[in-house]
Amino acid sequence: MNKIEQTLSIIKPDAVERNLIEDIKSIFTQNNLSIKENKKIHITKEEAAEFYKVHQPKPFYEDLCAYLSSGPIVVMILEGDNAVSKNRKLMGATDPKNAEENTIRKLYGLSIDKNSVHGSDSLENAKKEIDFFFKN
Ligand code: ATP
Ligand code: MG
Repeated sequence: MNKIEQTLSIIKPDAVERNLIEDIKSIFTQNNLSIKENKKIHITKEEAAEFYKVHQPKPFYEDLCAYLSSGPIVVMILEGDNAVSKNRKLMGATDPKNAEENTIRKLYGLSIDKNSVHGSDSLENAKKEIDFFFKN
């Protein structure tokens, strides 16, 4: 069953730095995800810590927050049929080494931390993450 959803996507600093914004956006649009909102921002370490707070207990939390705030990122609202799971499929596995062929992380990811994109992992988290970046 198809349902129109919105999800949050982030193009992380490693991909922005390598001028991959348009290449990554075109993967979404060619797969019937439309980009409803889109902005390039540079967040603080405190904002990254708030965004990633579900990962607070994890050993990589500090590095993760430092990384997401290390340079400009592009945050987007993607919309389309089953957008949450479709975006996750297009992204590929967290570690680019394990990602399927032609996924964004396989094509562009450098390592488990510099893995080029973030995507909401559930509809509930998508709503929270969209609000985090697009509601004042
Ligand atoms: P994201 O939330 O960025 O879309 P994900 O849902 O595939 O990625 P999560 O388990 O939510 O993966 O982890 C969030 C981020 O933390 C990952 O994108 C990755 O950059 C980093 N990360 C996850 N596991 C590790 C690890 N073992 N070592 C270092 N960094 C990690
Ligand atoms: Mg995640």
